[in-house]
Formats: sequence, C-alpha cells, structure tokens
Amino acid sequence: MISSVLDSTPVVLSDVPLQIDPAEVLRFQGYKKGEDAPTPEVVEIYAGAIKEGEDLIDPRAVYRAVRVSEQAPDSIRLSGGAEFHIPEIGRLWGPIESVGTVVCTIGERLERRVRELFDVREFPLAVMLDSVGSAATECLAEYVNDLLCQVAIPERLNVTNRISPGYAGWDVSEQRLLWSLCPGGLAGVALNSACFMTPTKSISFLVGLGPDARVDHYFTQCRRCWMKECAYRRAPAERMVHRA
Ligand code: SF4
Repeated sequence: MISSVLDSTPVVLSDVPLQIDPAEVLRFQGYKKGEDAPTPEVVEIYAGAIKEGEDLIDPRAVYRAVRVSEQAPDSIRLSGGAEFHIPEIGRLWGPIESVGTVVCTIGERLERRVRELFDVREFPLAVMLDSVGSAATECLAEYVNDLLCQVAIPERLNVTNRISPGYAGWDVSEQRLLWSLCPGGLAGVALNSACFMTPTKSISFLVGLGPDARVDHYFTQCRRCWMKECAYRRAPAERMVHRA
C-alpha cells in the first residue's frame, strides 16, 4: 500500500488486482487498432492464452520517491548528487520536486510455461501466451502509474507519465542508477551487468512528482483509470487495468 507518493522508504505492492487488456495482447501480436481483425482461429488461441495467463501472473512492484535538487532541460539531479540524463525531460514534465522510481514484474511462472510450450512445439499458443505476458507487464506499469496519480491527488501533487531507461532517447545504462534508488529485488527482480532484468516480463520506470508537473496531456492515462468521480479526470474511462 502506498500511503504517500513522497514516501522515500521502498514500498512493495503485491496482490495487485490486475486486468490484462486484450487490445494490448493483440498489439503485441502486431495487430493495428481499427485496421486488423483476428481470425476466429486466432480469437480461440487468444482467449485461451489470456485465461491461462491470468492464472500464471503474480504482479508485484516496488516504489520509492527521491527528492530532486535541480532540473535542467535534459537532466534531473537528485538530492544525494545522482543525475539522470533524459532528453527533453524539462519540457515534457515541467517543474518537478521529486521523482517516483518503480520496478514491477508479473513474475516468472508465465515465461516458464512459454518455454515448456516451445519445447513441445505448441508454437501458436506459446507465442500468444508470450504476448499475454508482455501485455500484462505493460498493463501493470500502467496500473502503478494510475495508482500513483490517485494517491497523489489528495496530496495536491501531479504525477507525470512514466518513462523507462532505453526509451525516448534515455540511455539504457541509467537503468543501474534507477536500480540504485529502487531495490527491484524486493519484487523478486534481478538486474545483470548488461542492464537486462529477470524475470524478463519486468519494467522499470520513473515518474515526476510536483504540484506543477505537466499532466495536460494525460488523456490516455485517464481513459484507463478506474478511479470513480475523479475531479481531475481529463477523459472518460474506456477500459481498465484493474480487475472489477
Ligand atoms: S482519472 Fe486521471 S487524473 Fe484522476 S486519478 Fe485517474 S489518471 Fe489521475
């Protein structure tokens, strides 16, 4: 349970009531929204894979906030002296006072099952289940991002969209710095010297926190957020990554 987004003590989230978004599974299968439709055979495999995947995931996350001491257009310096170098972050996030660091995972059972399916040459189901795992991991990161926004509102703070090392021009080597701040091991995730996480269905990310942090482009976030009667909602909820 995260009681404050400014909590500087690592918090572990477990028993997350995660809902896997089927559209996200199809996206990982290469289907383009509104353009491609799966055949009945694919729908059958896909429905079975989601059902099996739901039993195989064990979503958990670690969260920790760290104070910011200085911001520049392409960097964020933290109290303690560590510095992230992220292109355009000053413009994208606006003024922030802290960062939230997250490592999350769906665990390793699903990827073990995918390996078993490949071993017995059940290729269509193996590939689909792998997509279910990737989609579940993405939904978990969205879930945590939404949860942080919900916790931050009573604290009169904004939470920016998330960004991960290796994306949007952020060098993947800064994964180590993120990990030095957020102990992913508490969620059962390990990082090797090549900045590769195991279980592989894991995501690490950073968000910005502050009363004036930019959330004016928060439409996608609100569209999937399950918070009822949120006074700050920017778009109606369309789908959820929270189990009903
Ligand atoms: S509806 Fe939007 S603003 Fe409100 S808590 Fe959810 S993500 Fe945040």
